[in-house]
Amino acid sequence: MRLYNTLTRKIEDFAPLNPPIVTFYSCGPTVYDYTHIGHMRTYTNNDLLKRTLIYLGYQVKHVMNTTDVGHLTGDDDTGEDKLEKGAKKTGKTVWDVAKFYTEYFFKTIHALNIIDPDIVCPATKHIDEMIKMIKKLEAKGYTYETKEAIYFDVSKFKNYGKLSGQKLEEKIQKAREEVHIDPEKKHPADFALWFKRVGRFADHTMHWDSPWGDGFPGWHIECSAMSTKYLGQPIDIHSGGVDHIPVHHENEIAQSETANNTQFVRFWFHNNFLMVNNQKMSKSLGNFYTIDDLEKNQIEPLAIRYLFLQTHYRQVMNFTWQSAKAAQNAFNNLKKIILTYKSYKTNKSYMSNKSYKTYFSSFISDDLQIPKALSLMWQMIDDKNLSPQEKLDLIYDFDQVFGLNLKSLKEKKEKIPENIIKLAELRKKYRQEKNFEKSDELRKQIEDLGYTIKDLKNNQYEIKKLT
Ligand code: AMP
Ligand code: ZN
Repeated sequence: MRLYNTLTRKIEDFAPLNPPIVTFYSCGPTVYDYTHIGHMRTYTNNDLLKRTLIYLGYQVKHVMNTTDVGHLTGDDDTGEDKLEKGAKKTGKTVWDVAKFYTEYFFKTIHALNIIDPDIVCPATKHIDEMIKMIKKLEAKGYTYETKEAIYFDVSKFKNYGKLSGQKLEEKIQKAREEVHIDPEKKHPADFALWFKRVGRFADHTMHWDSPWGDGFPGWHIECSAMSTKYLGQPIDIHSGGVDHIPVHHENEIAQSETANNTQFVRFWFHNNFLMVNNQKMSKSLGNFYTIDDLEKNQIEPLAIRYLFLQTHYRQVMNFTWQSAKAAQNAFNNLKKIILTYKSYKTNKSYMSNKSYKTYFSSFISDDLQIPKALSLMWQMIDDKNLSPQEKLDLIYDFDQVFGLNLKSLKEKKEKIPENIIKLAELRKKYRQEKNFEKSDELRKQIEDLGYTIKDLKNNQYEIKKLT
């Protein structure tokens, strides 16, 4: 398997440290607002990576956090607390807000047939682990305390910036006037490990006791503390969106490598954005669509998954309803083809044509060339030398990676509306009475309403919707 590694900016040969197990950590959602399809692009691509590894024979141990502690709207400790903001907006408690949006997140990922992580760890359940890690960093002399918080001193960490390639001097303060900056902070890139419940945080709802007083953890420490707890260090693969590279992941590296004296992560896997009109789809810009919006536009969640398969994970992707509809059509077409193949009812499997599988494996293991693998599937469908059963077997085989849930596809029996059934029953009566004039009239009426009626033996009939 070859995989692009953000750390080295190269496509490298990937092999886990302890085969066949691959340790995989994904930065999870901040649960203060609706999960949208922008997030879903990232989580679908993580899922494609995981399914590819499984397809290639690895066992993936997958851990994901949920950020249910409020953290600030800016990655760099600036702005408002996101959960408190969400609670204010909805009039619920912060705990209810977190619970509601966590459930919405999982409902969404299940709708897209994304495999659940083996361990989902909410930050609020791991405060002790975070405190322990901060104490470790403190004992090593990498922290300092102000009236407001405990900070990680990035100037002490030699390799700060190795992931993004940014030098510390280049990190300019993005401060805007309305944003609060701790006056005692030494460097703008220093980040909070623990916030004290004082000053602007005096009313903070979520808070815990700590060696530094009552307060709550900074955002970055949760991923370091929880990933180490469940996966050890180094981790084989750590994923997130590209927005996490310059701050969140840089900070995770600084904390974890300082605390544990070894490399934190071997491969960094970053997903590019889903955009709308050249802007990142995001909660804060309000330009986002959820799975409920998809439903309103008659787009199935799995059709969006199909849409994501068409763009490589490292490329920016622009969302339009037109492209979503095109993906829905292609997906419908695929489903129809599968149902036709299934109707052949051969149960013999040949798999004589191994070369498609070879190509498929080579595409997916080449830094996840899923779009190429998808075109290969359509090429294979057009291949006159394969039997329907062979094609079906190959589709099911590929779908272990695509994740379109094609094996459980069943022919949907169209429900015939009551008024059509009434007309058909009336027509049956006329036919029994041999009143063919009336019965023909009713056939016409049924057809005008978009249905066909076929007469079967023993005065039975079959109604179908016209397509
Ligand atoms: P958040 O809940 O904002 O922390 O986001 C959760 C994950 O979704 C992060 O890895 C983000 O990078 C990713 N994400 C957020 N917006 C988008 C987007 N428009 N396209 C792709 N990934 C996104
Ligand atoms: Zn994280």
